[in-house]
Amino acid sequence: MEYARQRAQLVSSLKNYGISEKILDAIRKVPRHLFVPEVHRGSSYVDTPLSIGYAQTISAPHMVAIMCNLLELEKGLKVLEIGTGSGYNAAVMAEIIGTEGKIYSVERLEPLIRFARANLEEAGYNNIEVIFADGTQGYPEKAPYDRICVTASAPCIPQALVDQLKTGGLMVIPEGDIYQHLYLLKKDDDGSIIKKDCGGVLFVPLIGEDGFAFQSNP
Ligand code: SAM
Repeated sequence: MEYARQRAQLVSSLKNYGISEKILDAIRKVPRHLFVPEVHRGSSYVDTPLSIGYAQTISAPHMVAIMCNLLELEKGLKVLEIGTGSGYNAAVMAEIIGTEGKIYSVERLEPLIRFARANLEEAGYNNIEVIFADGTQGYPEKAPYDRICVTASAPCIPQALVDQLKTGGLMVIPEGDIYQHLYLLKKDDDGSIIKKDCGGVLFVPLIGEDGFAFQSNP
Protein backbone atom coordinates (compact mmCIF):
# COMPACT_ATOMS: atom_id res chain seq x y z
CA MET A 1 0.00 0.00 0.00
CA GLU A 2 2.85 2.33 0.91
CA TYR A 3 4.60 1.47 -2.37
CA ALA A 4 1.38 2.16 -4.32
CA ARG A 5 1.11 5.64 -2.75
CA GLN A 6 4.77 6.42 -3.46
CA ARG A 7 4.38 5.21 -7.04
CA ALA A 8 1.36 7.46 -7.58
CA GLN A 9 3.41 10.44 -6.32
CA LEU A 10 6.26 9.53 -8.65
CA VAL A 11 3.89 9.37 -11.63
CA SER A 12 2.51 12.84 -10.72
CA SER A 13 6.03 14.28 -10.71
CA LEU A 14 6.71 12.80 -14.18
CA LYS A 15 3.88 14.88 -15.67
CA ASN A 16 6.37 17.81 -15.67
CA TYR A 17 8.33 16.06 -18.45
CA GLY A 18 5.43 16.09 -20.93
CA ILE A 19 5.12 12.30 -20.91
CA SER A 20 2.05 10.78 -22.61
CA GLU A 21 -0.73 9.32 -20.48
CA LYS A 22 -0.09 5.86 -21.98
CA ILE A 23 3.47 5.85 -20.61
CA LEU A 24 2.49 7.30 -17.24
CA ASP A 25 -0.04 4.49 -17.02
CA ALA A 26 2.66 1.89 -17.64
CA ILE A 27 4.89 3.41 -14.93
CA ARG A 28 1.87 3.38 -12.61
CA LYS A 29 1.53 -0.38 -13.19
CA VAL A 30 5.15 -1.61 -12.93
CA PRO A 31 6.29 -2.41 -9.36
CA ARG A 32 9.77 -0.81 -9.53
CA HIS A 33 10.58 -2.11 -6.02
CA LEU A 34 10.72 -5.63 -7.48
CA PHE A 35 13.58 -4.51 -9.79
CA VAL A 36 15.68 -2.84 -7.07
CA PRO A 37 18.11 -4.73 -4.78
CA GLU A 38 16.69 -5.09 -1.27
CA VAL A 39 19.20 -2.65 0.22
CA HIS A 40 17.73 0.18 -1.95
CA ARG A 41 14.05 -0.83 -1.77
CA GLY A 42 13.16 2.19 0.36
CA SER A 43 14.22 4.48 -2.53
CA SER A 44 12.38 2.54 -5.25
CA TYR A 45 10.00 5.42 -6.01
CA VAL A 46 12.49 8.25 -5.78
CA ASP A 47 13.14 9.58 -9.29
CA THR A 48 16.80 8.61 -9.36
CA PRO A 49 19.06 5.87 -10.75
CA LEU A 50 19.99 3.22 -8.14
CA SER A 51 22.87 0.77 -8.00
CA ILE A 52 22.10 -2.80 -9.09
CA GLY A 53 25.69 -3.96 -8.50
CA TYR A 54 28.51 -4.71 -10.98
CA ALA A 55 28.99 -0.92 -11.46
CA GLN A 56 25.56 -0.72 -13.18
CA THR A 57 22.32 1.10 -12.41
CA ILE A 58 18.58 0.90 -12.87
CA SER A 59 17.81 4.11 -14.78
CA ALA A 60 15.81 6.94 -13.19
CA PRO A 61 12.07 6.66 -13.91
CA HIS A 62 11.99 10.01 -15.75
CA MET A 63 14.70 8.74 -18.14
CA VAL A 64 12.77 5.50 -18.79
CA ALA A 65 9.64 7.58 -19.41
CA ILE A 66 11.44 10.00 -21.77
CA MET A 67 12.93 7.15 -23.82
CA CYS A 68 9.57 5.35 -24.08
CA ASN A 69 7.91 8.64 -25.08
CA LEU A 70 10.46 9.26 -27.85
CA LEU A 71 10.00 5.71 -29.15
CA GLU A 72 6.23 6.25 -29.67
CA LEU A 73 5.60 2.71 -28.43
CA GLU A 74 2.35 1.06 -29.46
CA LYS A 75 0.62 -2.26 -28.91
CA GLY A 76 2.01 -5.18 -30.91
CA LEU A 77 5.50 -3.80 -31.68
CA LYS A 78 8.70 -5.86 -31.72
CA VAL A 79 11.32 -4.07 -29.63
CA LEU A 80 15.05 -4.66 -29.12
CA GLU A 81 16.53 -3.36 -25.87
CA ILE A 82 20.29 -3.20 -25.36
CA GLY A 83 21.22 -3.22 -21.65
CA THR A 84 18.66 -5.23 -19.65
CA GLY A 85 20.13 -4.30 -16.25
CA SER A 86 17.35 -4.92 -13.71
CA GLY A 87 14.66 -5.55 -16.35
CA TYR A 88 12.64 -2.48 -15.27
CA ASN A 89 12.82 -0.53 -18.54
CA ALA A 90 11.84 -3.71 -20.42
CA ALA A 91 8.85 -4.18 -18.08
CA VAL A 92 7.63 -0.61 -18.69
CA MET A 93 7.91 -1.13 -22.46
CA ALA A 94 6.13 -4.50 -22.14
CA GLU A 95 3.18 -2.80 -20.42
CA ILE A 96 2.82 -0.50 -23.44
CA ILE A 97 3.28 -2.98 -26.29
CA GLY A 98 1.00 -5.54 -24.60
CA THR A 99 0.99 -9.30 -24.96
CA GLU A 100 0.65 -8.93 -28.78
CA GLY A 101 4.15 -7.40 -28.81
CA LYS A 102 7.54 -8.84 -27.94
CA ILE A 103 10.71 -7.51 -26.35
CA TYR A 104 14.19 -8.94 -26.93
CA SER A 105 16.55 -7.54 -24.32
CA VAL A 106 20.32 -8.08 -24.53
CA GLU A 107 22.70 -7.89 -21.54
CA ARG A 108 26.47 -8.53 -21.40
CA LEU A 109 26.76 -9.34 -17.66
CA GLU A 110 25.66 -12.82 -16.65
CA PRO A 111 24.73 -12.02 -13.01
CA LEU A 112 22.43 -9.25 -14.26
CA ILE A 113 20.80 -11.68 -16.69
CA ARG A 114 19.87 -13.86 -13.70
CA PHE A 115 18.76 -10.80 -11.68
CA ALA A 116 16.57 -9.46 -14.52
CA ARG A 117 15.00 -12.83 -15.34
CA ALA A 118 14.09 -13.39 -11.68
CA ASN A 119 12.65 -9.87 -11.36
CA LEU A 120 10.60 -10.18 -14.56
CA GLU A 121 9.25 -13.55 -13.49
CA GLU A 122 8.27 -12.26 -10.04
CA ALA A 123 6.57 -9.24 -11.60
CA GLY A 124 4.74 -11.51 -14.08
CA TYR A 125 6.13 -10.43 -17.47
CA ASN A 126 6.38 -13.21 -20.02
CA ASN A 127 6.71 -11.40 -23.36
CA ILE A 128 10.33 -10.38 -22.67
CA GLU A 129 13.23 -12.59 -23.75
CA VAL A 130 16.52 -11.79 -22.00
CA ILE A 131 19.60 -12.67 -24.04
CA PHE A 132 23.24 -12.97 -22.93
CA ALA A 133 25.28 -11.31 -25.70
CA ASP A 134 27.22 -8.24 -26.77
CA GLY A 135 24.44 -5.81 -27.66
CA THR A 136 26.72 -3.68 -29.86
CA GLN A 137 26.03 -6.42 -32.44
CA GLY A 138 22.27 -6.23 -31.83
CA TYR A 139 20.32 -9.49 -31.98
CA PRO A 140 20.25 -10.45 -35.67
CA GLU A 141 18.28 -13.66 -34.98
CA LYS A 142 14.99 -11.71 -34.60
CA ALA A 143 15.73 -8.61 -36.73
CA PRO A 144 14.33 -6.33 -38.05
CA TYR A 145 12.83 -4.41 -35.11
CA ASP A 146 10.12 -1.76 -35.00
CA ARG A 147 11.94 -0.02 -32.17
CA ILE A 148 15.42 -0.18 -30.57
CA CYS A 149 16.11 1.19 -27.09
CA VAL A 150 19.76 1.42 -26.01
CA THR A 151 20.27 2.07 -22.28
CA ALA A 152 24.07 2.51 -22.18
CA SER A 153 26.12 5.21 -23.91
CA ALA A 154 27.92 4.30 -27.16
CA PRO A 155 31.13 5.93 -28.48
CA CYS A 156 29.29 6.05 -31.82
CA ILE A 157 26.10 4.42 -33.06
CA PRO A 158 26.78 0.74 -33.85
CA GLN A 159 26.05 -0.02 -37.53
CA ALA A 160 24.53 -3.42 -36.59
CA LEU A 161 21.76 -1.61 -34.71
CA VAL A 162 21.03 0.70 -37.65
CA ASP A 163 20.93 -2.33 -39.97
CA GLN A 164 18.52 -4.19 -37.65
CA LEU A 165 16.01 -1.31 -37.48
CA LYS A 166 12.93 -1.63 -39.75
CA THR A 167 12.18 0.99 -42.39
CA GLY A 168 10.07 3.59 -40.58
CA GLY A 169 11.45 2.34 -37.25
CA LEU A 170 12.73 4.42 -34.33
CA MET A 171 15.81 4.02 -32.13
CA VAL A 172 16.86 5.92 -28.98
CA ILE A 173 20.50 5.80 -28.02
CA PRO A 174 22.82 7.81 -25.79
CA GLU A 175 26.11 8.66 -27.49
CA GLY A 176 29.31 10.06 -26.02
CA ASP A 177 31.87 9.52 -23.29
CA ILE A 178 32.09 12.25 -20.63
CA TYR A 179 29.63 14.47 -22.54
CA GLN A 180 26.72 12.35 -23.66
CA HIS A 181 23.62 13.21 -25.67
CA LEU A 182 20.47 11.20 -26.21
CA TYR A 183 19.60 10.75 -29.90
CA LEU A 184 16.39 9.73 -31.62
CA LEU A 185 17.00 8.03 -34.98
CA LYS A 186 14.38 7.35 -37.62
CA LYS A 187 15.01 5.07 -40.59
CA ASP A 188 13.28 6.73 -43.55
CA ASP A 189 11.56 4.94 -46.45
CA ASP A 190 14.71 5.22 -48.59
CA GLY A 191 16.84 3.73 -45.78
CA SER A 192 18.43 7.06 -44.81
CA ILE A 193 18.73 7.95 -41.13
CA ILE A 194 17.31 11.12 -39.58
CA LYS A 195 19.09 11.87 -36.28
CA LYS A 196 17.67 14.26 -33.68
CA ASP A 197 19.57 15.49 -30.61
CA CYS A 198 17.32 15.19 -27.55
CA GLY A 199 19.73 16.75 -25.03
CA GLY A 200 22.42 15.90 -22.49
CA VAL A 201 22.21 12.68 -20.44
CA LEU A 202 24.35 10.48 -18.20
CA PHE A 203 24.47 6.72 -18.79
CA VAL A 204 26.91 3.91 -18.01
CA PRO A 205 29.11 2.98 -21.01
CA LEU A 206 28.10 0.55 -23.72
CA ILE A 207 30.96 -1.96 -23.60
CA GLY A 208 31.70 -4.33 -26.45
CA GLU A 209 33.11 -4.94 -29.90
CA ASP A 210 31.55 -1.75 -31.35
CA GLY A 211 31.36 0.03 -28.00
CA PHE A 212 33.85 1.16 -25.37
CA ALA A 213 36.68 -1.15 -24.31
CA PHE A 214 36.22 -2.88 -20.95
CA GLN A 215 38.38 -1.32 -18.22
CA SER A 216 38.62 -3.32 -14.99
CA ASN A 217 40.04 -0.34 -13.10
CA PRO A 218 38.74 2.86 -14.68
N1 SAM B 1 17.59 -0.82 -18.69
C1 SAM B 1 18.15 -1.08 -17.40
C2 SAM B 1 17.15 -1.16 -16.30
O1 SAM B 1 15.97 -0.86 -16.52
O2 SAM B 1 17.54 -1.53 -15.19
C3 SAM B 1 19.25 -0.13 -17.04
C4 SAM B 1 20.45 -0.41 -17.78
S1 SAM B 1 21.97 0.15 -17.19
C5 SAM B 1 21.78 1.88 -17.24
C6 SAM B 1 22.90 -0.26 -18.66
C7 SAM B 1 23.08 -1.75 -18.88
O3 SAM B 1 23.75 -1.92 -20.14
C8 SAM B 1 23.96 -2.43 -17.85
O4 SAM B 1 23.26 -3.50 -17.28
C9 SAM B 1 25.16 -2.91 -18.64
O5 SAM B 1 25.73 -4.12 -18.18
C10 SAM B 1 24.55 -3.07 -20.03
N2 SAM B 1 25.51 -3.09 -21.14
C11 SAM B 1 26.62 -2.34 -21.34
N3 SAM B 1 27.21 -2.69 -22.51
C12 SAM B 1 26.45 -3.67 -23.05
C13 SAM B 1 26.52 -4.44 -24.24
N4 SAM B 1 27.50 -4.29 -25.15
N5 SAM B 1 25.55 -5.35 -24.49
C14 SAM B 1 24.54 -5.55 -23.62
N6 SAM B 1 24.43 -4.85 -22.46
C15 SAM B 1 25.35 -3.92 -22.20
